[in-house]
Amino acid sequence: MTTSPHPTTRWLFGDQLGPHFDDGGPIVLIEARSMFARRAYHRQKAHLILSALHHRAAEEPDRVTLVRASTYRAGVEKFRAETGCELDAVAATSRPARELVKALDVSLVHPERGWFTTPSEFQQWVADRGKRRLLMEDWYRSVRTSHNVLMADGKPVGDRWNYDHDNRLPPPKGETHLPVPPPWQPVEDDIDEAVRVQLDDWQAEGIEFLGADGPRRFAVTRTEAVQALDDFLDNRLALFGPYEDAVLWRDPFMAHSLLSVPMNLGLLHPREVVERAEERWRTDQATLASAEGLIRQIIGWREYVWHLYWHLGSDYEDRNALDANVHPPDWFVNADCDQIDAACLRHSLGYVRDLGYSHHIVRLMVLSNWALQHGYSPQAMNDWFRRAFVDGYPWVMTANVIGMGLYADGGEMATKPYVSGGAYLKKMTDFCSDCRYNPKVRVGDDACPFTAGYWAFLDGNRESLAGNHRLATAFRTLDKLKDRAELVEQERARGAEAP
Ligand SMILES: Cc1cc2nc3c(=O)[nH]c(=O)nc-3n(C[C@H](O)[C@H](O)[C@H](O)COP(=O)(O)OP(=O)(O)OC[C@H]3O[C@@H](n4cnc5c(N)ncnc54)[C@H](O)[C@@H]3O)c2cc1C
Ligand code: SF4
Repeated sequence: MTTSPHPTTRWLFGDQLGPHFDDGGPIVLIEARSMFARRAYHRQKAHLILSALHHRAAEEPDRVTLVRASTYRAGVEKFRAETGCELDAVAATSRPARELVKALDVSLVHPERGWFTTPSEFQQWVADRGKRRLLMEDWYRSVRTSHNVLMADGKPVGDRWNYDHDNRLPPPKGETHLPVPPPWQPVEDDIDEAVRVQLDDWQAEGIEFLGADGPRRFAVTRTEAVQALDDFLDNRLALFGPYEDAVLWRDPFMAHSLLSVPMNLGLLHPREVVERAEERWRTDQATLASAEGLIRQIIGWREYVWHLYWHLGSDYEDRNALDANVHPPDWFVNADCDQIDAACLRHSLGYVRDLGYSHHIVRLMVLSNWALQHGYSPQAMNDWFRRAFVDGYPWVMTANVIGMGLYADGGEMATKPYVSGGAYLKKMTDFCSDCRYNPKVRVGDDACPFTAGYWAFLDGNRESLAGNHRLATAFRTLDKLKDRAELVEQERARGAEAP
């Protein structure tokens, strides 16, 4: 038997760093400077990506090579010229990355890894639905059934699919923080320090970043990722379910898992997260409502959003059903929030600036809600969410931002826009207690920008949304508002100003 002097090397992207991408042979990772120079990413996001790549290379220096290059193409060419190795790869997570791998003649591309379900399972589910809407809830139930997750004798355990009723509690009254320990946090090391210096040098050379630098808060190695998962299951899962939709403004993390970063870096497999959560319930260490709440996020939302990225096609990202063409103002894009009076927006942009993270309700019901009300371009918001959040990747944006957040697909994903006034925020958050506006007031000095913005949004989008029967009551109420003209004029005059 002859053996090749140059074994095939696995080229892995920075979101393919866990053991399930590694078949034991040599690995090459490419740090492409152009990726950071092209658009202004959050500084802490750039730190996480570089730190993850550098840690992976340092863990096994004899097997993993890190190539620093101006672009991915230059990195691949350099590696090939120096080693003569053939490359193989695992299907990348975005269209541009897949096109690049193809253009660089990588000899073998393995099917995607790191997902709970396969593309063919999703395609089969779509085909079976015929003309019915692709509802997340139905997808979730089908995955639970076919993969036997939280099931007994073909039925959902506890005889219920859904614990939303138990899980939608408002924040506990009189508390500033949930009674859970702070989330797991890594201890920074020399690699982090070197990354910080590298980012400072890049900034000095003109590469721009968004947001503030800060201590690293998320896992970037496999060991850290498992520690973060263990810590979440031990200390926070119990309150995850009940308070997953609630906000206490001094407590940006509440009982959330902070696992999107290590999962999106490919360090944790969603299957292990789901199995571990189910095991906690089966061994009486977690309530069903909390375990189900987390599992729904992973095999429901996360897998659904991933498959939709491919299923909906590249044109979907260009949709703009409400013809929303306002370029988000600089104060919003740069999370320049200290002068903002509206407490919900001030704190939410503050999380973006200081952490590059916020939990789901803040992203959807404050930041997207504001952008929707003010006609910010869905494409500009897609770009912003991807750059400004530490866990932002192209596959996760499409359905969450274009579909769910900005209703730019005209209702394919969501049956009505996720738009709301101050009443929702007053109920589910404690922002309003720190605010100079009044969520019940829609006209005048105290008028809540979200409440007034809600009615102005309905007024301005009446034609496009008139056929939506889920908004019929809201439109009837709009028609009865005595101060409607005054309100619309007030919001027009406020324009792009920070509220
Ligand atoms: C406008 C908007 C933008 C978003 N941008 C991103 C993003 O850039 N990256 C990202 O990973 N998630 C994104 N999400 C989904 C969700 O908000 C985050 O996954 C979650 O807040 C991450 O924090 P966590 O790990 O503490 O999540 P937890 O609340 O602890 O949830 C557990 C896990 O469920 C998964 N999950 C839950 N909901 C979703 C969802 N809708 N889509 C995908 N995964 C989900 C995540 O992997 C998350 O880690 C976005 C949602 C909206 C509405
Ligand atoms: S009053 Fe309005 S602007 Fe102020 S925090 Fe509440 S919802 Fe936000």
